[in-house]
Amino acid sequence: MPASGWGQLFTHMIIVQKYGGTSVADLDRIRNVASRIKATRDAGNKVVVVVSARAGVTNRLLADAKTLDPHPDSRELDMLASVGEQETIALTAIALHSLGVPAVSRTGAQVGIHTDSEFTKARIVDITGGDLNKQLDEGKVVIVAGFQGVTEDGHVTTLGRGGSDLSAIAIAKAVNADLCQIYTDVDGVYTADPRQVPGARKLNEISYDEMLELASLGSKVMQARSVEFAKKHGVVFEVRNSMNNNPGTIVKEEVASMEDVVVRGVAADKNQTKVVILGLHDQPGTAARLFTALAKANVNVDMIVQNVGRDGVANVTFTVPSDDAYKAEKAVEKISAELGPRVKFMTDRVAKVSVVGIGMRSHSGVAADLFTAFAEAGINIQLISTSEIKISVAVEVDKADDAVRVAHAAFAL
Ligand code: ASP
Ligand code: MG
Repeated sequence: MPASGWGQLFTHMIIVQKYGGTSVADLDRIRNVASRIKATRDAGNKVVVVVSARAGVTNRLLADAKTLDPHPDSRELDMLASVGEQETIALTAIALHSLGVPAVSRTGAQVGIHTDSEFTKARIVDITGGDLNKQLDEGKVVIVAGFQGVTEDGHVTTLGRGGSDLSAIAIAKAVNADLCQIYTDVDGVYTADPRQVPGARKLNEISYDEMLELASLGSKVMQARSVEFAKKHGVVFEVRNSMNNNPGTIVKEEVASMEDVVVRGVAADKNQTKVVILGLHDQPGTAARLFTALAKANVNVDMIVQNVGRDGVANVTFTVPSDDAYKAEKAVEKISAELGPRVKFMTDRVAKVSVVGIGMRSHSGVAADLFTAFAEAGINIQLISTSEIKISVAVEVDKADDAVRVAHAAFAL
């Protein structure tokens, strides 16, 4: 797939464009999106558009459900949340009609986005496309509702928060698109969140692995699952701004020259909860029991630290997304008698700050440089975890922004 540049003339291509919630927030923005779609189609391309709910809509719907019941049924949540995207597809199609462009809207079910029945975070099993190709052949723009799919039994599912990204990448794969453009409200992927770090720079390109780490680490540009899917299926895509014509960031398989950069970016996830469990049996099987119980409760465990056992007891600390903290507490409570005679546990909000770069594979001393910078800035490190291309530390939530700035400066990003 060629690198794009909106405004350049692409013709005779199949182009998938995804517009996020802020890009379709109000009627003026929807008109703006419609005129961009029109220009792309007028240049002689087949265009499939995936849209999100208008900014704030999904949050409002989910908040309403939680007001009625703090732990709402997940099937009903999906029935509810999927409404947001349906509003946008129809409005976008209508805006296109008003410009004289033939367009049709389609729900996830109508284009055959089949998923498993893991409500609120369903996985795509396959995409049949429905009549998508026929509509394209007739010259129509097809506007598909992001975020939603359908089970074998016809139940509406959603693909996890931010799931319209996944819809777009998966459709790009299904229609064998020449270009997949993810339009958002920033120019692309940055070395850090520009709101936290004034000197943050836009990256021209980034590897799937780096993007995946940054996305899972709370850089809000894209849903992590969608990047995983793109990597698995080799879908090259570009993140770009729906309000200007600046080139964006190309996300693709790494090339050798990408390793020259040690740290590509810094991210912070302020929505983590640290769970400390004291007094565990120091014997084989305890950790297995604990983490099996958490897995069964569908808790996404992240950093895990266990100390050296003493006097037959051990302590374990792990972090979970704060949304899973309640489930985690319930799961630990339920098996606490099996874990040890006097198990105690406590939870605390933390922020996870991470530096990411595939260059870490071939450069040493990155951890030392990072920890030294934190020490000089008086930032206390609570937990550390690393992977081949990432170093993450848990810090006090109030120190997160400082920590990001310090890390960004330390690696001269
Ligand atoms: N509307 C959904 C959400 O807010 C999906 C998306 O925007 O990608 O999570
Ligand atoms: Mg989004």
